[in-house]
Amino acid sequence: MPAVECLRAAVRDVVDFPKPGIVFKDITPILADGKLFRDSISLLCATAGGVTIDKVVGIDARGFIFAAAVADRLGAGFVPVRKKGKLPWKTRQTAYSLEYGEAIVELHEDAVKPGETILLVDDLLATGGTAAAAVKLLDELGANLIGISVLIELTFLQGRAKLVPHPVHSILTY
Ligand code: AMP
Repeated sequence: MPAVECLRAAVRDVVDFPKPGIVFKDITPILADGKLFRDSISLLCATAGGVTIDKVVGIDARGFIFAAAVADRLGAGFVPVRKKGKLPWKTRQTAYSLEYGEAIVELHEDAVKPGETILLVDDLLATGGTAAAAVKLLDELGANLIGISVLIELTFLQGRAKLVPHPVHSILTY
């Protein structure tokens, strides 16, 4: 089976988690399998298209797992976008709504320098609210954002519309 289909087969649908009506895409079976995890990172790295990346930005919390591994593989730095109140230094913050709730995300104000080449990575793109909030913070810091790469895209929620004009790459679509 091709790597993408092996990844698709490993994603576990959990119905009504964390709220009724949500079908949660559980990626922990991918993380728990050495080959699947490595393949997922290889496919995410390929979305950079050979461009030299200064920093990979990951979104709290599952995004960190993929973003940190992609950063290591690409020889880039890693920068966390975190939920409010977790980062110790001076931050920029923005509020957003997500598929199941509301939140504020923060980025250290010195984490990205103007003109640095950035790849934003998360596990899953749903409504796009979270990624759009991270993009807003990166735009404010003058980042050269080359794209947003996610393992899973829930296309029916049209999240990528919130990320125009930035290119969005997804490995698995539902
Ligand atoms: P959104 O802001 O709606 O694009 O939501 C994206 C974030 O919420 C991602 O960081 C995901 O980790 C999480 N998320 C949203 N919907 C789901 C879902 N159906 N299954 C798993 N994670 C989800």
